[in-house]
Amino acid sequence: MAKDYYKILGVDRNATDEEIKKAFRELAKKWHPDLHPDNKQEAEEKFKEISEAYEVLSDPQKRRMYDQTGTVDFGPGGQNFNWDNFTHYSDLNDIFNDIFGGNFASDFFSGFGRGQREEQYDLDLYTNLDITLEDAYYGTEKRIKYRRNAMCPECNGTGAKGGKLITCPTCNGTGQQRIVRGQGFFRMVTVTTCQTCGGKGRIPEEKCPRCNGTGTVVVNEDISVKIPKGATDNLRLRVQGKGQSYNGRTGDLYVVLRVRNDRNVQRINDDLMIEQKVNFAQAALGDTIEVGLFKEKYSLKIPEGTQPGDVLRIKGAGMPHLNGHGNGDLLVRINVEVPKRLTQKQKDLIREIFDIKENHRSWFH
Ligand SMILES: [Zn+2]
Ligand SMILES: [Zn+2]
Repeated sequence: MAKDYYKILGVDRNATDEEIKKAFRELAKKWHPDLHPDNKQEAEEKFKEISEAYEVLSDPQKRRMYDQTGTVDFGPGGQNFNWDNFTHYSDLNDIFNDIFGGNFASDFFSGFGRGQREEQYDLDLYTNLDITLEDAYYGTEKRIKYRRNAMCPECNGTGAKGGKLITCPTCNGTGQQRIVRGQGFFRMVTVTTCQTCGGKGRIPEEKCPRCNGTGTVVVNEDISVKIPKGATDNLRLRVQGKGQSYNGRTGDLYVVLRVRNDRNVQRINDDLMIEQKVNFAQAALGDTIEVGLFKEKYSLKIPEGTQPGDVLRIKGAGMPHLNGHGNGDLLVRINVEVPKRLTQKQKDLIREIFDIKENHRSWFH
């Protein structure tokens, strides 16, 4: 009683998925009813038959059942194949594209997949925000002004005057539309999101006058965003519900931080580095000095014999760890200043210290 699906597609029983698909594509092209105006009826039957075979053999579960029992359960339609069972419209779309070019095929299946695409609208908004390293160090709040489509407050985004909705007459409230196209064999049914109600199943009885039925209004936002201590470059701060509104949904606003470089402070992850000048006596003899970082002051011990370029570390005085406890370190790079103008007495003393003869320059000449 059962049809031999393998024979219909002209493949053997061990055929791979790839071979089955290839055979179907070739036969679908060959038996497309529009290519057989003289024996359209026969072509339609053939076309349906190969589509049925493909539906079964391309689905591992259905194929196994068919191999074992010779029968197939097509789901809601029972054991008899009909076009509502067919799950490969996108394959057909490709094939029609090959045969007829893009226009015919895309028109034929224009409703196909539309619902999915609408779900994927990106309603999130992104904006860059420049902050200083000092902002990142202390944490702060910044104001951001921008425009967005917000949910209409008058109708709560329904687009309906007084929020009054009625059942969508196109889809009878199911939110899905069965698009029947073509004739004869081509009375294929594709199920898509209802275009009248956008899948919601209900439409406004009367349009909301404030938003003209769109459900959204343009608003000028002026919001305050909290910049956390330790904020890093490219950090994305999410402000929930402040993106675009569409179809009753609202996205988020993402604030992407740009931490500007500081002339005096270099950031190395959460360590901060500053330069500190000391004179050569402090470097030679050691000293305790005060160093400044933004509004902070720290006492720093310069050890005896500190060299130019030496880096001293003040533990825990660097950038606060983002979302954590504690801070990085403050690194102080020592820059030893050599005095440019000295009194005769100072010069004599230095010569004495370093045991340099007055006419030492002549050594090199
Ligand atoms: Zn409204
Ligand atoms: Zn509808």
